[in-house]
Amino acid sequence: QAKKAKHKEGVYYNIDMQDKMAWRIGIIRQLRHDFARNKLEVWYQPQLALDDLSLIGCEALLRWPASDGVYISPAVFVPLAEDAGLIVDIGQWVLEQACQQQKRLENMGTEICIAVNVSVPQFKVKGYAQTVKNTLLKYGVKPKNIELEITESVVMDELETVISTLSELKELGMEVAIDDFGTGFSSLSYIQSLPLDRLKIDRAFIKDLPNDDTGAIAALVISLGAKLGLKTIAEGVETQEQAQFLKNLGCDEVQGFMYAKPMPENELIEFINKR
Ligand code: C2E
Ligand code: MG
Ligand code: MG
Ligand code: MG
Repeated sequence: QAKKAKHKEGVYYNIDMQDKMAWRIGIIRQLRHDFARNKLEVWYQPQLALDDLSLIGCEALLRWPASDGVYISPAVFVPLAEDAGLIVDIGQWVLEQACQQQKRLENMGTEICIAVNVSVPQFKVKGYAQTVKNTLLKYGVKPKNIELEITESVVMDELETVISTLSELKELGMEVAIDDFGTGFSSLSYIQSLPLDRLKIDRAFIKDLPNDDTGAIAALVISLGAKLGLKTIAEGVETQEQAQFLKNLGCDEVQGFMYAKPMPENELIEFINKR
């Protein structure tokens, strides 16, 4: 329902906007509080090779259980954490969790790569590549076993700086993926100038497959990846039809509810042991 606009000091405030601002402030306060008390969790979603469905890696995904046991979506709180300047610390914590998780899996005989999402404010901190390097050293993790997922918004920042930071990370031997590929607003030309390993096709282009329109985009990304020597991984695969369609196009890898949902460590270990 429409609420009344309130006239205040010459500026029109919409009451819905005021509510929204109060809500945002409340969420940020609670997030800061819960992060400080170590209440956040990292869950892991398996990534599989499409040809033989072997486990190649996992994506680390933040989880925030609110007081009533309901999880607040990272799609909601990550942007708020970015605005509030909290994402740098939270992101570093996620990287450290992922490193320790990688090591525990390796020690039980499963050496896979864990992918970690990187936000723009994190990537922009001076010395970011060095921080990542130090973190890997701290936990004794091989660089090839951690992948950083950046979005087009990271790339759009300042190409020279982005290239030099990415080059540093690549020289270490880390993996780099472009997340949500095709949903950003950057030009395609940047993709050639970046040292990358993988294109992640956004779920938006997968969910209606094998419908023609989005099928054309998925096909385009997969052939672009092949031409540039990059692996392609499809996000959000939920049906056998989607998987078959992607396989026919030559997509390399998949991640989706059809194979496994994001899960906490104990379930991930069960998942691995059952295979
Ligand atoms: P993302 O990086 O693109 O992660 C993939 C999202 O797709 C995850 O949502 C995952 O649960 C969801 N997904 C995977 N397969 C399926 C499927 O088959 N069906 C459906 N409906 N969804 C699927 P999630 O965990 O809710 O995360 C949302 C977004 O929040 C992430 O999108 C990422 O942008 C952000 N995020 C999560 N964790 C972190 C983090 O540690 N740092 C940063 N900076 N962002 C994070
Ligand atoms: Mg991601
Ligand atoms: Mg994504
Ligand atoms: Mg996404």
